[in-house]
Amino acid sequence: MPHVVTQACCGDASCVYACPVNCIHPTPDEPDFGTAEMLYIDPATCVDCGACVTACPVGAIVPGHRLTPEQQPFVGVNAAHYDADLFANEKRFPVDMGKRLPLAPVTTPRPLQAPPQHVAIVGSGPSAMYAADELLRLPNVTVTMYERLAKPFGLSRYGVAPDHTHTRAVMHLFDDIARHPRLRILLNCEIGRDLSLDQLRERHDAVLWAGGAPTDKSLDIPGTEADGFASATSMVGWYNDHPDFVDARFDLSTERVVVIGNGNVALDVARILTGDPDALEKTTISRPALAALRSRGIGEVLVVGRRGPLQAAFTLPELIGLAESGASIVVDPTELDGVVADPDDITAGLKLAELGEIAANPPARDPSRPVIRFAFGLAPQEILTDRGRVTGVRFARNSISADGTATPTGETVDVDAGLVLSSIGYHGVPVPGLPFDERRGVIPNDHGRVMDGDRPVSGVYVTGWIKRGPTGFIGTNKTDSIDTIASWRADVESAAAATT
Ligand code: NAP
Repeated sequence: MPHVVTQACCGDASCVYACPVNCIHPTPDEPDFGTAEMLYIDPATCVDCGACVTACPVGAIVPGHRLTPEQQPFVGVNAAHYDADLFANEKRFPVDMGKRLPLAPVTTPRPLQAPPQHVAIVGSGPSAMYAADELLRLPNVTVTMYERLAKPFGLSRYGVAPDHTHTRAVMHLFDDIARHPRLRILLNCEIGRDLSLDQLRERHDAVLWAGGAPTDKSLDIPGTEADGFASATSMVGWYNDHPDFVDARFDLSTERVVVIGNGNVALDVARILTGDPDALEKTTISRPALAALRSRGIGEVLVVGRRGPLQAAFTLPELIGLAESGASIVVDPTELDGVVADPDDITAGLKLAELGEIAANPPARDPSRPVIRFAFGLAPQEILTDRGRVTGVRFARNSISADGTATPTGETVDVDAGLVLSSIGYHGVPVPGLPFDERRGVIPNDHGRVMDGDRPVSGVYVTGWIKRGPTGFIGTNKTDSIDTIASWRADVESAAAATT
């Protein structure tokens, strides 16, 4: 039976390069790569060799005969992307070995045509680790990495949910990279506190800023200062033992928690808040969070999107994973009335079908666990409070047009809640001494070269969320970092050529 990519897919495309028959798509050079929610194996072309299994850093690829019942839905998800009849008239990724050469490029990098280089990387999250890996392929490059926390690997340690053990396994890959003899990682070393950016630039031939997007977008509505309002990202930090959030407190005795926004972070938080504490005990979840979950009084976690089901920011693999996790999910069938997916958008069609399935056949309810309810078309207008404490949220009802635009209908809806979590995305913070695009929360750049207006800032580069914004999966950072290192390399080699 062919192999199947499952929910843990990190999208770093290692499997694509390992596959001898080019049956995993989209590849990094295909247009869909940047937007795909995961990679897919063509069941008709897969030769079942298992090369991809060895290459995958997160154990996401499983031979068909070893799939667990929870992973079975991914057989259809993979196959649908190659199905000529199901959603589109043509195969999505035409796999024709007569026309396409297998990728599998076992490349020895061309030596750097420049003197030895010492590069500083700020941060040690996924984009930093993938950048170091790419740099260290060049024999005359050494790398020093500066990490402000006592433990490395950033969001793969502190952002991935504790029950996503496969995804967290990417840290084994980063451990391997960290052991490289030409890489030094300095922990507890914060640029801007222990060393200035100028000092860093003086000591290294180049600086690569990979500091991520460490804060969250702010929800600009009245009432967010009240007790009982918090960001979902702070809750993620709390249950993952992030040192900045160990003192956070969340009232889990409340009957209803409202999560504003419906991206994958919202799903993570909803899944953990409603999870089985005995199962979570076997994960790395923080012990205070586990204790709080054991005594929770929550009956419902309401996950609210301001647009419709088709515009929901959660991805299909995460929705399937949630549905298969034993969570009690409720979708009111009327939320799906009149909603029609674009027949050419395979993922949207499958997502709508999955929501329809949940609405029609809600998973069996475990009375010991709170319910997760999805609501759509509700934009937060005000956090309702009483004597400084959250009592609920006032939403404005939107009508959603076919192109996904939300228009207020004039109707408002009040929802009672004792805890409101804003899960509307991460945001980058400015780096003193470097330009910053406040709206997008990124450092302006051209393929990773930091740009001050139309001039590059000499020797300073960016990668990851501070470069492109807080989107994509862990593995997305691999191609992003390769892009930045290509820019760095071109600059170093042209400077070297100019001096000879
Ligand atoms: P996200 O995917 O960008 O979702 C943000 C959500 O907030 C959207 O529903 C958005 O709605 C909504 N929103 C934004 N501004 C709002 C406002 N003012 N009022 C109400 N709603 C608002 O963000 P995220 O969940 O933080 O995820 C960040 C990235 O990490 C994503 O790429 C995600 O896939 C990734 N991630 C992946 C995983 C995983 O694979 N397991 C886990 C966690 C995170 P609109 O669409 O209407 O703007």
